[in-house]
Amino acid sequence: MFADMSGKMATNFVTYMAVSMEESYQENDMLPKHSKRPEPKKPEISPMQGKAAWIRAQNQPVPCDVCGRTFLPGRLIVHPKSCKLKP
Ligand SMILES: [Zn+2]
Repeated sequence: MFADMSGKMATNFVTYMAVSMEESYQENDMLPKHSKRPEPKKPEISPMQGKAAWIRAQNQPVPCDVCGRTFLPGRLIVHPKSCKLKP
């Protein structure tokens, strides 16, 4: 259902989030309680919302990650629902 997230940027973002959060949890586990670092701030945005914001910032037609067709920023957000990759 998240075919639109197959784009490099979204994938990199998700990977970065997973890795960075995993690392900080592991480090915290090894530290004594009194020297525990503050929990890393988790961005309030989801990868999808982050991409939407990035697209809006570009303010230009953006190619769909799946089918390659270009859409205006507002349309690309809802496009994945009707996106069909040609066989
Ligand atoms: Zn598409």
